Amino acid sequence: MSQTVQVGPVKIGGGNPIVVQTMCNTHTSDIEATVRQCLNCAKAGAEMVRITVPSLADVENLRLIRDRLRSVGCTVPLVADVHFSSDIAMALPGIADKIRINPGNFHPRHELAREKFAALIEKCRSCGTAIRIGINHGSLGAYITEKYGNTPQAMALAAMEWLEMAIEADYADKVVVSLKASNTVVMVEAYRALGRMMKERGVMVPLHLGVTEAGNGESGRIKSAVAIATLLEEGLGDTIRVSLTEAPENELPTAWYLAERYGLPHPGGIPCPLTERERYILDAACSFGPRLLRGEIEDFQCEDTELHDEILQACRKKFYKPEYIACPGCGRTLYDLQGTFERVKAATAGFRNVVIAVMGCIVNGPGEMADADYGYVGEGRGLVTLYRRREPVLRHIPEAEAVDKLVDLIRQDAAETPLTIN
Ligand code: SF4
Repeated sequence: MSQTVQVGPVKIGGGNPIVVQTMCNTHTSDIEATVRQCLNCAKAGAEMVRITVPSLADVENLRLIRDRLRSVGCTVPLVADVHFSSDIAMALPGIADKIRINPGNFHPRHELAREKFAALIEKCRSCGTAIRIGINHGSLGAYITEKYGNTPQAMALAAMEWLEMAIEADYADKVVVSLKASNTVVMVEAYRALGRMMKERGVMVPLHLGVTEAGNGESGRIKSAVAIATLLEEGLGDTIRVSLTEAPENELPTAWYLAERYGLPHPGGIPCPLTERERYILDAACSFGPRLLRGEIEDFQCEDTELHDEILQACRKKFYKPEYIACPGCGRTLYDLQGTFERVKAATAGFRNVVIAVMGCIVNGPGEMADADYGYVGEGRGLVTLYRRREPVLRHIPEAEAVDKLVDLIRQDAAETPLTIN
C-alpha cells in the first residue's frame, strides 16, 4: 500500500478512497472564469483541481483565484501546473496546495534542474506544499532518452531519479508521481515498472494515473478506462484524472465510475451519475480492457461492433480508424481546440494506420505528441503549425486552411509511402 500524502484537506494514498481530479481549461489570467470553472468542477465531484501557471504573473492570479474560492467556502485543493520554469515553481509554495512539475522541462540543464528541485523541496517543506513529479512520455528530456530511449522503462527511471532526491531530502511523504502517455500500453508498462522500482526501494508514494491526450467522446473515455482500470486492478493508483478534450466537468462521471469500481466507496456517495450509455461502454471497457492489455485475451464478443472496435483500438489490438491524440486544453490554449478537433476527426476519418495529434499550444504541444505521425498545433492569433512526426513542415498557416492542408499532407505522404502505426 502507498503512503498517505496530505494535500490541503484531501488525503491521497494510504488506503484512502481514490481521489478524483480534473484541470481547468480557462486562462488563469481570467480570474472570474477560472473561479467559476473551479466551483462547477467541485460541484460536479472534483476533489482536486489543477490550474496552469504559465507565467510569473499567473502566480498572483492563482493566489487571487484561491482567495476567491476560499471566501465562498470552496476548499477544493488547487494544484499548480508548471512547465519550463523552475522560477515559477519556486514562487508557488504557500499559494498552491500541490505543485506539479515536469522533470523533462523543469530546467534545460539537468544538473541545474536537480539543484532547483532540491531548493523547491525546501521551499515546499516550509509551507507544507505537496509536489507531483509529473513525467510525460512525450517530454522525457534528452538526458534520459539518450540513455534509455523513449520507453516505459525510461519514464519509470526518470521518476525514480527525482523521487530519490525527495527521499534523500526526507520529503517523499509529500510526493505523488505520475507517468502519463497517450499510448495505453506504454502508460500501463511505465506504471508497472515504477511500481516494481518503488517496491525494491522500499518507498511507495501515491500514484496519479492518467492517459494523456486521450481525445474526446466515447473513444477518449474508453482509452482512459482500459488503462486506468488495468492498473487499479493490479493495485496501482491512488488518484486519477480522465483527461478529455471537453469541458473538465465532463471528465468526472467516468473518473467517479472508476474510483468507485476499484476503490473504497466514498462516504458521500457518487456526486455525478453516468448516463445509461456511459455505464454500458465503461462496463464493457473495464470487463475486457484489462484482460486485453495483459494479453490474457486477444479479442472478445460484443454485439455493438463500434464499441468492440473502440475497445480493441484503445488496447492497441486493432486500428479500425485513425488513432487520435488530443490534449484537453488548458490556460495555454489560444484557439477553439474542441471545435477544431471535431473538424480534424471529420476530415481524416477515412484514413487508416495513422496517428493524428491536435494540440492546444505551441509551447508544450509539439513535445507532448510523442506517438503522432502528424500534428496540428494551434499557435494562437489564428495561426497553425503542422507537423510530420516531430518536424514542423508547414508553419503559420491560417486556421481556415489548416485542416485541408493537413489532409493534403497525409494524402501526399500516403501516396509515397504506406503508413504504419506505432
Ligand atoms: S499541450 Fe494542451 S494541455 Fe498541454 S500545456 Fe499545451 S494546451 Fe495545455
